[in-house]
Amino acid sequence: MNSNEYQNLAARTLIDGPEQPLSVDEVVMLATALALHARLGAFTEKLKKNVLHRHQQYDVADFLDDIGDLEVDLTAICEDKASAPSYLSDRDTMTLWNAIGLLGESSEVAQLLLNYGLEPGRELEIYPDARKEWTKELGDVAWYHAAIATKLGLQMSDIQEANIDKLKKRFPKGFTTEDSVARVDVEPTKDLTQILGQAQQDLAGRVRIEGVGE
Ligand SMILES: [Mg+2]
Repeated sequence: MNSNEYQNLAARTLIDGPEQPLSVDEVVMLATALALHARLGAFTEKLKKNVLHRHQQYDVADFLDDIGDLEVDLTAICEDKASAPSYLSDRDTMTLWNAIGLLGESSEVAQLLLNYGLEPGRELEIYPDARKEWTKELGDVAWYHAAIATKLGLQMSDIQEANIDKLKKRFPKGFTTEDSVARVDVEPTKDLTQILGQAQQDLAGRVRIEGVGE
């Protein structure tokens, strides 16, 4: 099966819209979960870059500092329900739905790794039963990935091709720390405050994120 065939088959169970429209409170709760994941994701990315890709010296003291900064400081308040849009379009609702699904399933992959136990000096054994579980969970991630692509009118083969092109530019001779730092294929990224500020603006102020835009 190629990736576009998979995408078409996965769309068999993809619905056009929810049976009941989401209320404003429900949209705000879901958007808050997305914002929390974004915050945690930025922390995880920092660990990836500094611990795995060796961009910068990063020790336990830095880790504890960053964990401290991670205290939940996102407060979702639906302050002005009257002026908030009373509905999302079906497409936007389903994109939000599938993004939440993707984040939930990604967390299940993380949980699976934790369930099998990581121990220094002992390599994880992938027994047949474990292979089944990994196949199932990675499949769940693949389904939501395909669902978002379908809702946004993107083809899996185009997404995969663009990804490989990016990596060929970034790592012409395979992975190196130097190329990972240089990221020649990208403009300098916005910092987290800018990203969250934009997200807040996009949500028309319905989700208030402390420390952003104040
Ligand atoms: Mg799952």
